[in-house]
Amino acid sequence: MLLVLEQGLDETKCKSVVDALRQIGVEAELSFSSSKTVVFIHSDVRSQPTHKFSQIEGVARVIRISPTCPLTLSDSERPVDLYGPNRGESTVTIGGGAAPVVIAGPCSVEGLDQILELARRVKVAGATVLRGGAFKPRTSPYDFSGLGDEALACLKEARRLTGLPVVTEVMCSEQVEKACDFVDMLQIGARNMYNYDLLKEVGAAGKPVLLKRGISATIDEFLHAVEYLLLAGCNQVVLCERGIRTYEPRTRNTLDLSAVPLLKSLTGLPVIVDPSHATGKRNLIRPMSRAAIASGADGLMIEVHCTPDKSISDAEQAINPNELGQISSDATTIYEALKSIDHPSPTDDDRNTSGSRPRLVVACASPSN
Ligand code: PEP
Ligand code: MN
Repeated sequence: MLLVLEQGLDETKCKSVVDALRQIGVEAELSFSSSKTVVFIHSDVRSQPTHKFSQIEGVARVIRISPTCPLTLSDSERPVDLYGPNRGESTVTIGGGAAPVVIAGPCSVEGLDQILELARRVKVAGATVLRGGAFKPRTSPYDFSGLGDEALACLKEARRLTGLPVVTEVMCSEQVEKACDFVDMLQIGARNMYNYDLLKEVGAAGKPVLLKRGISATIDEFLHAVEYLLLAGCNQVVLCERGIRTYEPRTRNTLDLSAVPLLKSLTGLPVIVDPSHATGKRNLIRPMSRAAIASGADGLMIEVHCTPDKSISDAEQAINPNELGQISSDATTIYEALKSIDHPSPTDDDRNTSGSRPRLVVACASPSN
């Protein structure tokens, strides 16, 4: 909100407008220009009536500025729940301070045996959501583009046998309709973040959505894509930072970790990181996963294969289930460490300052050998 002040008001009177606002709990800032003096209101006053501000002495006009993404920008946390086949038992919460989710599986579903074995092994390795491409967006039209409907049926079977909720990418309306009967979450890939008709369609499909950041998308473009989903009726959206295209060719993309805290603070939506597509290199997946969790990510999405070198697609970035196990355990350790930094439990010293317990001094003898 902006308050335009009356012409010719002296500086003291202008400041008294800001003081009056402070007294009612509203943070504001004065801005002087040659033609006008305005007050910028920083607090969220959307629910407050206009007359509350127009009646302040010295205020000539109240201007409400509606944000370009009114549904997306929010101060409240909006966690997302995914339900697997056994609702309750296999419910996974993403965001809202919950432990980081690990979404894992192959780049592409290659067959029933492959996905069943992998689903079982990623679950043991700590994954709580299974991923797998059925319809693959490939840069070259000659590359493997997924098993399509057959892959959806394989994913459904893996879901039934392991109890893991499943996410898969959709690229057009026909696939949206089909996938809804098989999976728990629809993914919109980086190449389709700008496909506004698809965003509308997926947003109205009644499923949670995993939206990946476009290959060269700015944060604002990403936020606008989210707005399409929310406007279409979806209120279960998870954002995924998967690297952006820069001038650096040694990695597939450049992982923009600053996007994680930034998107979380702007939207309150859960934000996860995909280090597989961000780096394109299997030896970088673990360090970047650690960094992602340390930056506050609500989870990871990682491409895993039982025989990584034999992956039909994206073999260079695939890791094996054992490596996934190490990453899941890192994620838990880092998450717990962050929690204890942010909310330290009271120490003996703290308790003693409140006078409730006698001070206990423990001397540690140095080990003799
Ligand atoms: C994927 O997750 O399978 C994928 C193709 O990723 P992106 O859209 O980020 O390239
Ligand atoms: Mn891939």
